Amino acid sequence: MSKCVCIIGEIRGGKLLRSSFEVASAGRTIADSLGSSLCALFAGSGISGLTAEMERYGVDRIIVADDPALEHYLPETHVPVLADAIRRCDPALVILPATVDGKDLAARLAARLDAGLAQDCTRIVLEDGTFRAQRPIFAGKCYSWLEWAPGEMPLVSVRPNVTDCLAPADGRRAEVESIPVAVPVPRSRVKEVELDVSGRAGLTEADIIVSGGRGMKEAANFGMLEELADVLGAAVGASRAAVDSGWRPHADQVGQTGKVVNPGLYIAVGISGAIQHLAGMGSSRYIVAVNKDPDAPIFGKADYGVVEDLFQFLPAFTEEIRKLKSTCG
Ligand SMILES: Cc1cc2nc3c(=O)[nH]c(=O)nc-3n(C[C@H](O)[C@H](O)[C@H](O)COP(=O)(O)OP(=O)(O)OC[C@H]3O[C@@H](n4cnc5c(N)ncnc54)[C@H](O)[C@@H]3O)c2cc1C
Repeated sequence: MSKCVCIIGEIRGGKLLRSSFEVASAGRTIADSLGSSLCALFAGSGISGLTAEMERYGVDRIIVADDPALEHYLPETHVPVLADAIRRCDPALVILPATVDGKDLAARLAARLDAGLAQDCTRIVLEDGTFRAQRPIFAGKCYSWLEWAPGEMPLVSVRPNVTDCLAPADGRRAEVESIPVAVPVPRSRVKEVELDVSGRAGLTEADIIVSGGRGMKEAANFGMLEELADVLGAAVGASRAAVDSGWRPHADQVGQTGKVVNPGLYIAVGISGAIQHLAGMGSSRYIVAVNKDPDAPIFGKADYGVVEDLFQFLPAFTEEIRKLKSTCG
């Protein structure tokens, strides 16, 4: 049998992120093409109970590093532990989610394992025995295909929300192995205190995002977007203009120098649609733009456009959605 395919799950707040199941689904497809097995790795604290959930996605083997020192993602702790776990598997390919932490981890693991790294890919395939990965370039205007020289181990981070979660109902049971955190975990000088104060979905994972731009006029007006987000179960994003104005934290910025997101629905409110913003959200499945300027470039990208003053539109729209939800349940 060929070498296995290895995926790394990401845990936040004691739960596996949906993108962990997406990479497991991508990994299962490749493992089937190779005629090999799929191995999932995850590291965290008090996470042994998560293995059953991962098993549903066609995983043959799960390696868990469970230790209080691994409670939050930190390069100093996670990289040596996961690099060690990957060496145990000796895989043909490693896949992990291209979240903020995932991309950080991927770069560090690639350096440590001397692997060929492709970040933020939208597809990965095996063709004639060669791994090939597709990634967007030029702010999402084109795609490039990368391939690896024979013998080189590919390490690929996959953009969240581009892969369907496929749970094969084949009753497969995974062999679960707990590894001792054998590599010395250095005392980190950094302690993560809090992850997400809002309790809303994270931007890169969210299926719906409502984003505000300079048109929101001031920080307090984002309360209107938050209300809409709460009704829709959405995350809140922002343009760089809104972030630079100090209305939102940088973590909310969508775009070339912010986060790349790929939700099912992206609602851009008071955002003009600069190329650097489109680079971060242009691949969303449906884009709705709300802007009072009918010539705003965002309308060139949007599937649906609302030419309206956002301060008129937002409260009425939120109210309508609220009513719709109460009648439809
Ligand atoms: C190297 C580089 C990297 C960058 N990276 C990013 C990035 O990651 N993300 C990003 O977003 N930008 C980025 N930018 C900045 C980008 O070029 C734009 O300046 C920015 O996206 C503009 O933000 P905006 O659309 O909110 O503001 P504006 O372009 O000022 O647009 C505001 C819009 O709001 C509308 N509006 C105003 N009032 C109302 C109202 N009452 N009702 C309805 N509509 C209204 C206006 O018609 C206008 O279209 C980058 C720029 C550079 C040079």
